Amino acid sequence: MRKKVFYVYNPNTLSYERVYPSFRKRMATVFRHLLSGIILGGILFSVLNYFVDSPREKMLKRENQQMRSQYKLLSRRLDEALDVMADVRERDANLYRVILQADPISAAVWNAGTDNVSRYQDLMNLSDADLVVATTQKVEQLNRQLYVQTNSINELVKLGQQNEDRINCLPAIQPVSNKDLKRTASGYGLRIDPIYKTRKFHEGMDFAADIGTPVYVTGNGTVVETGWKQGYGKTIVINHGYGYKTRYAHLSHISVRNGQKVIRGEEIGLVGNTGKSTGPHLHYEVIYKGKHDNPINYYFFDLSPADYDRMIQIAENQGRVMD
Ligand SMILES: [Zn+2]
Repeated sequence: MRKKVFYVYNPNTLSYERVYPSFRKRMATVFRHLLSGIILGGILFSVLNYFVDSPREKMLKRENQQMRSQYKLLSRRLDEALDVMADVRERDANLYRVILQADPISAAVWNAGTDNVSRYQDLMNLSDADLVVATTQKVEQLNRQLYVQTNSINELVKLGQQNEDRINCLPAIQPVSNKDLKRTASGYGLRIDPIYKTRKFHEGMDFAADIGTPVYVTGNGTVVETGWKQGYGKTIVINHGYGYKTRYAHLSHISVRNGQKVIRGEEIGLVGNTGKSTGPHLHYEVIYKGKHDNPINYYFFDLSPADYDRMIQIAENQGRVMD
């Protein structure tokens, strides 16, 4: 910049005299130049900084970009995992819990604690807060649901074991093998009394078979009654638990004693003609919670003669083990 030179007209000397600026003025000029330089420099720096990144900034931006896409990928994967979890949950509620008669797990238990967004307050200041919070929330949901599901499965396994025991105890077969039957068993319900010729309710089922034909217990249980009973003759009563009892009457021989544990298919006595009976047969009753029920409702295991023989053999072997 060209240096400015000032002249002032002096009437006394009748000439132009050069004016030298004072020190203060000169300092002011220096400061003015310095200041404008700083401001200009600052503006230039900002503009450059805005349009051109430093290598470090470039690296950070790239990292950030990678992390954002990784978060998006994780979020999608978590959505898939939660979908699978929802499917497991549905089976838990609609299949296993129904079969094993357990109460369904409520939505509140499934999602407890994970709906509370205030837990993620410290994540809210991030530039991609929504993505980070949503992903974190999904992880916690999955975590929670896995925990609840594990507990549920443990409970169902326990129920399944109990159910297996219950199924083994149910009086679910015929007490006399089909191959030993002489004619179709006579049923449960109202019928004419064979001796008094009056209408009477028949509380069990009669299986006509030769004297000495084996009688098999129809479910696992404990012998609770053995001996002579008015009308029934030689009788056995088995308690199967779960509210079930069975009675075997008119026997010629009793081969179990009170308190003895028996297994389905085990021989407990022989068909006879004792008590109020018109011919050799087994009178068989199913009692549920103190009330007689139609035994025909309980032959769940529709066994073939071969299956029946196999079951009896298994029971015999197990019976020996338990002695
Ligand atoms: Zn009868």
